[in-house]
Amino acid sequence: MTGRGTYDAVVVGSGPNGLAAAVELARNGQRVAVLEARSTIGGGTRSAEITLPGFVHDLGSAIHPLGYASPFFRSLPLEEHGLEWVHPPAPLAHPFDGGKAAVLERSIEETAAALGPDAGAYRRLMGPISADAGRIANFFVGRPGVLRHPLALATAGLRSLRDARSLAESLFETERARGLFAGNAAHSFLPLEQSPSAMFGLLLGTLGHAFGWPFPKGGSQKVADALASYLVSLGGEVYTGVPVGSVEDVPRTRAVLFDVTPRQLLDIAGQHFTEDYRSGLKRYRYGPGVFKVDFALDGPVPWEAEECTRAGTVHLGGTLDEVSMGEGAVARGEHPERPFILLAQQSLFDPTRAPEGKHTVWAYCHVPNGSTFDMTERIEAQIERFAPGFKDLILAKSVAGTADLERWNPNLVGGDINGGYMDLRQLFTRPMPRLNPYSTPASGLYICSSSTPPGGGVHGMSGYLAAKAALRYLT
Ligand SMILES: Cc1cc2nc3c(=O)[nH]c(=O)nc-3n(C[C@H](O)[C@H](O)[C@H](O)COP(=O)(O)OP(=O)(O)OC[C@H]3O[C@@H](n4cnc5c(N)ncnc54)[C@H](O)[C@@H]3O)c2cc1C
Repeated sequence: MTGRGTYDAVVVGSGPNGLAAAVELARNGQRVAVLEARSTIGGGTRSAEITLPGFVHDLGSAIHPLGYASPFFRSLPLEEHGLEWVHPPAPLAHPFDGGKAAVLERSIEETAAALGPDAGAYRRLMGPISADAGRIANFFVGRPGVLRHPLALATAGLRSLRDARSLAESLFETERARGLFAGNAAHSFLPLEQSPSAMFGLLLGTLGHAFGWPFPKGGSQKVADALASYLVSLGGEVYTGVPVGSVEDVPRTRAVLFDVTPRQLLDIAGQHFTEDYRSGLKRYRYGPGVFKVDFALDGPVPWEAEECTRAGTVHLGGTLDEVSMGEGAVARGEHPERPFILLAQQSLFDPTRAPEGKHTVWAYCHVPNGSTFDMTERIEAQIERFAPGFKDLILAKSVAGTADLERWNPNLVGGDINGGYMDLRQLFTRPMPRLNPYSTPASGLYICSSSTPPGGGVHGMSGYLAAKAALRYLT
């Protein structure tokens, strides 16, 4: 890498946070380069034809409520750089045995109306938070606004620190409402009896109402491509095929921002840190992993519950009890017979994803960190349970266990897609408790990945906030 010039800042890793950090630095006048180990940019936000020609699969992230709502991404002209969001008619469907599904609609009123006796409780829970969602999000970029429902939000804030099971059982009486909430809460990778799993249920529901759960036309790669294109327009440089093994591999620069997780940061820059910081990084905990299958299909998924055909995302796991059993098993290091599955069917709403009449499905379930168990059959059986005839439509599939995922992207340690466990101890204080979590004890070295607040997901906020910290040093 030496000889490519000197920089104000070099970002190691081109995931959404690495690219976001580079963009924020470049738009503040800094000379920036991004070094990416792999041959393509994007980290967890990449797409490719991995089954059959013409079928575009999202290799990591698929659905982007966080990306669409991100105050940082919203401040960038990403549409001018090729990003186009697709909004399915409904963000989410959650089918049950017997051919019925609960649906998270864009409208709180419509969602509530289908929840029968739980309609009032749902309205009271989601109304105030959704009305203030944009103002809460802006808090991160330092633009706090006057909240419309401060008292209701305080209540929601306290509720979000609870576990999902007790909150759902105290608020809702029907399996439909409890199951819908449980599916969103299961995105936390926590047992539903552990706090703050309720936070994820509230957050994802709120985003669905306030912003939708869209995805990029043409594949999630478009998020990375748009960020990189904007970066280049600002004078930034992006290099692929450049794995950084030590700080000495980085060309001359005043600051380095690492879009990596603590384990890699220790390997790359450990000798520059204090003993305290090193032991903090060693104590960092990773969460469960995922097992993923991408399908090329001969037609749309034949859902028994017709409502599922309107949703971009479908949660497969049935009742609160069943979702809780599956997630509890994963937390104990086991592989559930009936796993909770997150499924996306982008091609139903984006014809660029598959040849005419054909379709793609993106699906994964949680597994213990580092698992080597093949969950393909259990994932297919679970989809077949809610969509009889599904298996007959499979033209090809691509399977990725935890080791495959980590080979594809070294940040996915043991298959953990969030850059570290997101429990109460580690959600707000990642990678460890510090006044500024993005800085390290080594002057000019920063961490900007999802192993810093606000954590996992494609939103670029960790990168943006790390860049702000670096800018205070650089300027
Ligand atoms: C299967 C899966 C499904 C997901 N689904 C969703 C979803 O639907 N919605 C959502 O919002 N999020 C989802 N996520 C999570 C999301 O992708 C991540 O939270 C996000 O990509 C984290 O961004 P990042 O920039 O911190 O790190 P990453 O995206 O992981 O990027 C890190 C980059 O750094 C590079 N790198 C690492 N080490 C080095 C090195 N030594 N030298 C040079 N380069 C290096 C890597 O190759 C990689 O490109 C999913 C992730 C996966 C894997």
